[in-house]
Order: sequence, then structure tokens, then C-alpha cells
Amino acid sequence: MRFDGWAGRTAYERSAALAAAHRLMLERKEALAQLMTREQGKPLRMARNEVGYAADFLSWFAEEAKRNYGETIPSARADQRFLVLHQPVGVVGAITPWNYPISMLTRKIAPALAAGCTVVLKPAEQTPLCAVATFEVLHDAGIDPGVVNLVTTSDPETVGGELVGHRSVRKVAFTGSTEVGKQIAATAARTVKRVSLELGGHAPFIVLDDADPVRAAKGAAAVKFLNTGQACICPNRLFVQRALADEFVATLQQRFERLVAGAGATDGVTVGPLIDDAALDKMERQVADAVDRGANVVTGGHRLVDGGLDRGCFYAPTLLTQVTPDMAIYREETFGPIAPVIVFDTEDEVIAMANDTEYGLASYVYTNDLSRAFRLMERLDYGMVGVNDINPTSAAAPFGGVKESGLGVEGARQGLAEYLDTKLVGIAL
Ligand code: NAP
Repeated sequence: MRFDGWAGRTAYERSAALAAAHRLMLERKEALAQLMTREQGKPLRMARNEVGYAADFLSWFAEEAKRNYGETIPSARADQRFLVLHQPVGVVGAITPWNYPISMLTRKIAPALAAGCTVVLKPAEQTPLCAVATFEVLHDAGIDPGVVNLVTTSDPETVGGELVGHRSVRKVAFTGSTEVGKQIAATAARTVKRVSLELGGHAPFIVLDDADPVRAAKGAAAVKFLNTGQACICPNRLFVQRALADEFVATLQQRFERLVAGAGATDGVTVGPLIDDAALDKMERQVADAVDRGANVVTGGHRLVDGGLDRGCFYAPTLLTQVTPDMAIYREETFGPIAPVIVFDTEDEVIAMANDTEYGLASYVYTNDLSRAFRLMERLDYGMVGVNDINPTSAAAPFGGVKESGLGVEGARQGLAEYLDTKLVGIAL
């Protein structure tokens, strides 16, 4: 079906197709989760959560499809009327990463289809099977090939370049690294395309001295080990106010040492492998650099090889203290199971350190003082702030970064607007 065919369907028809896809994805939840664990490695429980999250976008945008309201605007002239229409941007080119190999697809496809756009998607080369299975759900739910199209490739530059550069593609939706996102934005600019970019993060996790250090440490450990640290919202720098530092670090250490690394489908496994050897190398490089510059390894700090783990890319859950701004880990996105702790004394000091990065995706604050919570949430230069909350994400809430973490948002009411052009109609009576 051509773009016009899908755009010409009523919002109710598009909504019904997305609702059917939502039902079918939930029916196939277990099979999709098993496939994801085999292909990408995350523990099965987390894979099931991801499929649920992925399905939420189909459901949410099935509803939002019916709420693409226009506007009328009063004119200064008695014989004039203004209408504002929101129309689909056209063909969408989508490019997705391996770390969330189903939800990053539905987070783009669902709003695009709801708006009336058609989609050509290039998944990550490490997770094509999850993409194929997701497209099977969409096609089996009655969304025609031609409306949603999948192109797998091991040549991202050529295929991605064609998708981003082609004149017929009017919008690019990208999730991935900041480095590739910048190239995509530059290529898209040549044909003045709309872009939304969900890029890297370097999340601060701030624990103020009125918080409960044990609860904060439990939260930090849980969100750090989302997908073995391979999530854009994983905390990358843990800032703790001096009075709580010892208790916070001790609880983190206990939590880290309790984690069980292994194959994601094995019962009881809580930490999966890293995606590839390059990721392992990065862990080794960041830890070596930190240790050289004076960091203390509280636990971990090495590759895991016992019990057959040498056959995969496993790295021990690692806790570092005495981390300083001259270390690579203080500046670079880690994307793995290493947590650097930095002790601070004042609110102003921690805000300055937290904001001292080109990234601006997720951030976290633990405090029981409402005034401090407001001061921090307002002064942190991040697209998302979790206050005593490690999971400020939902299909209903806008997900996105500021600074070099991205442009635009996914999910929520605002997520639909990313796929709509505004058209003004002036009518003289
Ligand atoms: P990546 O290397 O940027 O790859 C992302 C996608 O872009 C893949 O499909 C990749 O294809 C493709 N690609 C690579 N080079 C390209 C090029 N020159 N032109 C067009 N496409 C190209 O990122 P990744 O390592 O897969 O993902 C990890 C990054 O994603 C992290 O930085 C993480 O923070 C970020 N992320 C952000 C969010 C968010 O919502 N903000 C969510 C998840 C992940 P190949 O697979 O073939 O290389």
C-alpha cells in the first residue's frame, strides 16, 4: 500500500490495526522474550518486561491515533477564518539499536502509523531476528507490507545513508549513539528532513544526605543493572553526599556481589553478557584508566571467565570509589556493569558536577526534602529526572534527552506530534 493509502484510512481504522498488533504481541510475549534473550542476551525476566513495554506503545498510540486534534484560531478580520491541520509527515526512515531490540521499534512505528505515516526501518545488525519477529506481529495483525517495511543489513552506512538521504523520506527517527546521531542529523539536513534523535546518556544518580542510603543503593543497583548496564538511562556516575557515603557504598557492594552472571535463559541469572568484545575492551580500558588515576576497586574490576563464562563477553559487576573528573569513566558513557562513586559536600557542587557533560538524558535524585527535590529537578540539565524513582519511563510519558542526548521525544501525547506536520489554512469568506 502506498503512503496515500495508509494516510487515507480513518484514524479509527489505524487505531484498530495498532490495537490488533498490541493483542498479538502480548499473545506472542513468551516466544518474543525467549528470542530476545537468545539473540541479545538479557535475562529472560527483563526480556519479558521489554516485550510488555514494547506492546504498551502499540496500545497507547492506538488510542492517541483518535486524538489528532486540529485547531481554529480567531482572525482579526471578520471575513477570515483560520484552521490548523496536523497531517502525517510522510514516509519515515527509522534506525534502531540492539540494546532494546523490540521496544525501540514499536516506540517509533506505533506513533508513525497512528499519525498516518508509512515506515521503512533498519534494525541493528546484532539483533535482526527480533526485528523480523516484530514485523511478523505487525503484518499478521493486518498492517500491510508496504506500510511497514524492514531492511536488515550488515552495511549500515550505505543502507542507513540511503534511508536518511532519500528525498521521499520526510522524517528520520533514530535511536543510537551520539556519534552516529550527529552524522544522521547532518545527512538529513541536506534534504531538510524532520529528525528525532534518542542518543547516548551519562546519567547522574544523586543521593542527598537526608535520603535513606539503603533504599537509594537498592535503586541505584537495580537501574545500573538494567540490561547489564547497557541502557541509555543507566546511572553512569553515582554522587553521594559525604555523611551517607559509607552506608551507600556498603549496600551497593552487597547488592553487586549478590548478582549472578550467566546465560539469560538460565534460572536465577540476573546479569547477562555484554554485546561484544569491543564492549568488554571498553570496560577493561575504563577500569584500567580509573585505577591508574587513583580509583579504588571495591568489587569486580575484571572479566568473568569461570564456569564457561569465557565463551561469552561477561564482565564482573564493578564498584569504583575515589573517582575524579580526570578519569575517562567520569566523562564517557560506560554502557556496562561499572558504577563509579563520587562523594560531594554541597548541593551547588553536585549540580555543577552532574551538569558538567555534553549529555542530558536521564538523571536521578534521592531526597526526602521536597524543597531540595524541586531545586534539583529544576536545575539538572536533563530531559528526565527520577525523584526517588528509578523508572521514570512509560508509553504515556515523554522520553527524550537534551543537549547531545537528542532531539524530540518518544511516547506520550507529544510522541505523536513528532510525526505530524502543521498546516495552516486561511479562508476568506
Ligand atoms: P549505534 O552504533 O549508533 O547504532 C545504532 C543504529 O545505527 C544501528 O542500527 C546501527 O547499525 C546504525 N548505524 C551505525 N552507523 C550508521 C551510519 N553511518 N548510518 C546510519 N546508521 C548507522 O548505537 P548502538 O551501539 O547500537 O546503541 C547504543 C547507543 O544507543 C548508546 O549510546 C545508547 O545510549 C543509545 N541508546 C539511546 C536510547 C535513547 O532512547 N536515548 C535508547 C537506547 C540506546 P549497525 O547495527 O549495523 O551498526
